[in-house]
Amino acid sequence: MDRIARLASGNPHKLAELQSALPGWRLETHDAGEPPPETGATYYENARIKARFGRSGDAWSLGEDSGIEVEGLAGGPGVLSARFAGPGENPVEKLLAQLEGMTGPAREARYVCELVAISPSGVEVRGTGVLRGRIAESARGSEGFGYDPVFLPAGEKRTVAELGNAWKREHSHRARAAQALLAALSSPRSRRGV
Ligand code: IMP
Repeated sequence: MDRIARLASGNPHKLAELQSALPGWRLETHDAGEPPPETGATYYENARIKARFGRSGDAWSLGEDSGIEVEGLAGGPGVLSARFAGPGENPVEKLLAQLEGMTGPAREARYVCELVAISPSGVEVRGTGVLRGRIAESARGSEGFGYDPVFLPAGEKRTVAELGNAWKREHSHRARAAQALLAALSSPRSRRGV
């Protein structure tokens, strides 16, 4: 039988990526309303805030937090990625403008995803995923979301938005975090608690 988990996120891209990376799980968006503000200092803290908020007792609760870290911006916007652009600003354009004139290592970047799953009995398990790459000179492609049109994964000539959603479902930071979560769940230590 599928493991039912409620995801505390309204982002349909995140839901689709996680659903295909978690075979045997049935993900639903939880209906407890808006999650509390992301006040954590780390992705892990924010993922945990969301997972705890979504707990209901009858199903697993899944919290996800992610962001992009750019070398030339001293690792920013990082945990503040969702708020990098102000109202009316385009985050991709803002990122390209801030990196204008920067080349080489300054354009190196990584996507990070942290997942926290809480079992109906309250056992917490986490998984982290990273996708390394660099920021392209201009936006290309139409799939994915957020910074995908300017993110060139290491070893690829196309941006994530060009590589597409099927590529993301296998290789994204979110897919990698899901794999880490499954590995943690199958470890003897967490199996005892769950
Ligand atoms: P969150 O909803 O607080 O986790 O916000 C994550 C933010 O990081 C998003 O709004 C995007 O700006 C960025 N981000 C995280 N994952 C991705 C991704 O897979 N593609 C593009 N941007 C992402």
